[in-house]
Amino acid sequence: MPSFRILIVEDDKPVMNLISTTLKVHDYSHIIAENGKEAISQSVSQKPDLVLLDLGLPDIDGIEVIKSIRSWSQMPVIVISARGEDSDKISALDAGADDYLTKPFSVDELLARIRAVQRRLSYMESRNESAIFTDGALKIDYAAAEVTVRDRNVHLTPIEYKLLVLLSQNTGKVLTHAFIIRSIWGTGVETDILSLRVYMAALRKKLADPEGKEQYITTHIGIGYSLERVAQ
Ligand code: CA
Repeated sequence: MPSFRILIVEDDKPVMNLISTTLKVHDYSHIIAENGKEAISQSVSQKPDLVLLDLGLPDIDGIEVIKSIRSWSQMPVIVISARGEDSDKISALDAGADDYLTKPFSVDELLARIRAVQRRLSYMESRNESAIFTDGALKIDYAAAEVTVRDRNVHLTPIEYKLLVLLSQNTGKVLTHAFIIRSIWGTGVETDILSLRVYMAALRKKLADPEGKEQYITTHIGIGYSLERVAQ
């Protein structure tokens, strides 16, 4: 099996060395880019399985690199940046980043995020073969547009169903408020974060597991929502 290949985009040599050594020790192969233009050309020519991206690059901003990659590819991008404000995370996630780590970061956390990307990729491969989504007691039959929790039918409004499908198709990924609103209502529609919050609260209530153990939807305060894999 070909090994998982990661493109590291970083202009800071010590950080680059830390990441590349960590990847090597854990049997990931890697390629490197020290600026944004190199990052774009490497992602086109080398088609890595994952990009680890610094935002503060010497030539163009990392956000521009994400936008450029997203114009032709869905390859996973994890941002590793010193910019730690929520607004920075939101603009990176909105541009299409899959995840965000703030510097200084822990090597163990980086490895855990990489494993999460690998799980999502293998899940997406298996999903292509199946029209049924399951997560713990939650089951979505995409073909029949039917949702059950512990075999109990859950009656969702069309918008609640669309929200759940969007989240389930991006399991483990934080979707920003703006991304969700754009995906569900399209652009130019007057829907705000407050109404989204109301829809999500209703959805969450309907999905509540009668045994009360499983929380599918995670709220990321000030950022958005994600659907998480619950323990099997
Ligand atoms: Ca930098």
